[in-house]
Amino acid sequence: MKRIPAAALFLLSVGLLFQAETTDSYFSRHFRDLTLRIDYYHTGNRETDTITLDRMYKEGIWAGPVHFLRDEFNNGQYYVKVFAADSNELLYSRGFNSYFYEYRTTEPAIQGLKRTFHESVRFPFPRRPVRMVLQNRDRKLQLQTVFTLEIDPGKDYFDTAPPAGAVQIVNLLLSGHPRHCVDLALVAEGYRPEDRKKLERDFARAREVLFSREPFASNRDRFNLYGVFAPSRDSGCDEPRQKTYRDTAVESSFNALDLARYLLVENNPRLQNILSRVPFDAVIVMVNHERYGGGGIYNQYCVFTADSQAGAYLLLHEFGHSFAGLADEYYSSRVSYNEFVPPGVEPMEPNVTALLDPAKLKWKQLVKPGTPIPTPWEKKHFDKLSAAEQARHLKRDEFRGLVGAFEGAMYASEGMYRPTIDCIMFSRNTLDYCPVCRNAVERVIRHYCGIEP
Ligand SMILES: [Zn+2]
Repeated sequence: MKRIPAAALFLLSVGLLFQAETTDSYFSRHFRDLTLRIDYYHTGNRETDTITLDRMYKEGIWAGPVHFLRDEFNNGQYYVKVFAADSNELLYSRGFNSYFYEYRTTEPAIQGLKRTFHESVRFPFPRRPVRMVLQNRDRKLQLQTVFTLEIDPGKDYFDTAPPAGAVQIVNLLLSGHPRHCVDLALVAEGYRPEDRKKLERDFARAREVLFSREPFASNRDRFNLYGVFAPSRDSGCDEPRQKTYRDTAVESSFNALDLARYLLVENNPRLQNILSRVPFDAVIVMVNHERYGGGGIYNQYCVFTADSQAGAYLLLHEFGHSFAGLADEYYSSRVSYNEFVPPGVEPMEPNVTALLDPAKLKWKQLVKPGTPIPTPWEKKHFDKLSAAEQARHLKRDEFRGLVGAFEGAMYASEGMYRPTIDCIMFSRNTLDYCPVCRNAVERVIRHYCGIEP
């Protein structure tokens, strides 16, 4: 079956940009300028990990880069890899995290309860038969294959996403062809048709928040930002602890993994069908709600509440997770998941380290000579301070601009280190990424634009 790439409305408005397409010979030798989406069910508990195929979809133009088809970040708990069926050459790869992975680390999963999550991966549409492999990292973070699928583009059947209602695309920022830009889909969740005026204000505010901070501000002209509006029947989202359930576009819900403030999308097929209307590299779900809540899953999506007083923090912090695979740098908050990284193993995330070999600190190019590693700070004293006193402590002159290795990061008060005393991935005192996080985000921006790292 054939489908029209992207929404007609969208094509009308940016049609000219699409004509400026350049072709990369390697890309066009192996792929068509379309997107293949694989939907599957991911089932298991702490010990088991089973994937079963749902459906394959042929979608619109490939929005991702054509120059860096193989993942260069070595981040994410899972990997999708696409090999040529005849030569076994690796054509495409991408790391990602998933809701299922986070579930696996929770107490019910450790107790053995199996749950099923719906997931999707996308890659450029192959011209010839390929083998798609999904891999999961073991305890030592080595990749192990959990699922293999032979795909023959000449023989297999590819569905088209069902009409996702009246999905409207609002161009919030257009800088160039999707292949040469970072394409962000900003999905409205819990907005009814009569909330349209508020939605336009919220779209604009999210855009200003994002591009008010580095490295987004100085890279603004490398971004396309599309507001995606699939009207919801109800306003807001689910709040299970209040026994409140609402009928919304992607069925987002507070209390994900039984954490009151954790807000994730519970209906993946709906989200993916809505997204099939727009070329995108990254997804931000904006929830029409005033309570503090959010979440971010690497190379999947992030969620934030539009009307929370901390809305700007939530957007930038959660986008750090989903866009660049940044780790939480804080260590004090209780989370339901545990044992993210076993002792003696270096975490994959670019902004935390177990400091197994201080001489090989992964952000050492940003450390001024003479800075002690680990970098001393009064953690014991800090932990006893009130929130207001902590905020003051983090702003002390001796720490300003200092990149080192500060103990306390990624939910561990000992044995895990962060690059600076404060960062938006550490606390709500700042809306800025530390230099290490900024570098990591910038690298991802360059990746999607096809610029050398
Ligand atoms: Zn940071």
